[in-house]
Amino acid sequence: MAAALDESLAELRETFRSRKTRSAQWRRSQLKALLRFVQEDEEEICRVLEEDLGKPGGESFRDELGVLTKSLNLALDNLERWMAPKSVRVPLMAFPTTAELVPEPLGLVLIFSSWNFPMLLALDPLVGAIAAGNTVVLKPSEHAPSTSSFIAKKIPMYLDSAAVKVFEGGEEVGELLMSKKWDHVFFTGSQKVGSYIMAAAAKNLTPVTLELGGKCPAILDSLSSKRDRDIAVRRITNAKWGVCGGQVCIGVDYLLVEEKSVSALIELIKEKIKGYYGDDPQRTGSMSRIVNKYHFNRLRRLLEEPGVATSIVHGGFMDESNLYIEPTILLNPPLESEIMKEEIFGPLLPIITVKKIEDSIDFVNSRPKPLAAYAFTNDSALKKRIVSETSSGSLTFNDAIVQFLVDTLPFGGVGQSGFGRYHGKFSFDTFSHEKAVLRRNFLLEFSFGFPPWDSHKIETLR
Ligand code: NAD
Repeated sequence: MAAALDESLAELRETFRSRKTRSAQWRRSQLKALLRFVQEDEEEICRVLEEDLGKPGGESFRDELGVLTKSLNLALDNLERWMAPKSVRVPLMAFPTTAELVPEPLGLVLIFSSWNFPMLLALDPLVGAIAAGNTVVLKPSEHAPSTSSFIAKKIPMYLDSAAVKVFEGGEEVGELLMSKKWDHVFFTGSQKVGSYIMAAAAKNLTPVTLELGGKCPAILDSLSSKRDRDIAVRRITNAKWGVCGGQVCIGVDYLLVEEKSVSALIELIKEKIKGYYGDDPQRTGSMSRIVNKYHFNRLRRLLEEPGVATSIVHGGFMDESNLYIEPTILLNPPLESEIMKEEIFGPLLPIITVKKIEDSIDFVNSRPKPLAAYAFTNDSALKKRIVSETSSGSLTFNDAIVQFLVDTLPFGGVGQSGFGRYHGKFSFDTFSHEKAVLRRNFLLEFSFGFPPWDSHKIETLR
């Protein structure tokens, strides 16, 4: 493996040096090929996602194929514009001078992806890396083995193998890859592995993008209109259980609500769960499964912790043979329990009550900065306070997860939820260096900036 990797890296470096990946024509051909892959292999992609996560076809289209198609079309529509140098203003002092920002590819980049959207999170950063003209090594997650081997089999059939290679494997392969020199590492995964990646990258001063996770809060105000309340709860229910069974970095981790509205809220959530999944969600074919036994047992441990089990007000049924956990609601589990400290990443929804909804702000601020924060409210004063007094990678009002689809917004974390950003043009920028190019000529020459110094020159410089 080590020798094969060295050989592959030498080939990728050589391809980059040949300047082939710099032309718009090459980039376009690769993006089109990736789009063909997504379109031609649609059914197979849904099949592998189903194998790995029990992902329903509707989710696979909405959350993986659809998002990828959108990213690819956006990159194809804007490629030349993104690649073009951009003129910038220069101070009068420097006259006659022009200046521009010239995007250039970084070189050979490494992309790590996680298992919850195993197709999207591998290929979406790849779109940016190719659009920006880099050569790439892709390391999909070993915890979605069908998708990983499908990517490893198919990518060489569609993309230029001298420029894009896939390496499969787990921790050991990841560590081997991190022992090499890269021009950028783009990592999607946990905070724990993210900190290892950053330390390993530091040895070669390699810049990193860390797309991590954390606990994303949703503040639910007591919306006065029945209709608004109903829509808010529909959206929250979908964001918690309708997207990869709650295994989502930007899913709703827990809810903050006022004590006085909690009973009615729980009944409304139960009604929405029933509306989506009927009486037996396990049999509807509309809910993803827990990815593997390790995560199933991790979630079981979260629920079984003393003080937590007694806080379950709905659900709690688990079927290990089917890696199924029923949509579960917990009311005020102890704040020092693991479920309120670690990222849940599963179909369990703790509801924490506060006296006044404004108290949610302090609650959110007393914890690490989340990747995403949500607030459902029509109160503009509260919205203003949440914008100015809390910090998170993104903040969405009156919906959840949809911000992921808006390419004009950057996607990324802050603090422990990561740093760096991507999506749309931000992906292109992440995988590019904007070279500062200044152009002068020999028409004019002022001597006030050169020695010998006298008081007149210093006065001119003031
Ligand atoms: P993980 O950190 O276990 O694995 C991520 C990737 O790192 C995988 O490809 C894995 O093989 C590799 N890896 C694992 N150990 C390694 C090591 N020692 N050296 C090098 N590589 C190593 O994360 P995961 O379980 O796949 O994903 C879940 C986490 O990812 C959650 O915390 C979630 O919030 C986060 N996540 C973030 C985003 C985002 O866009 N911000 C998206 C999805 C998931």
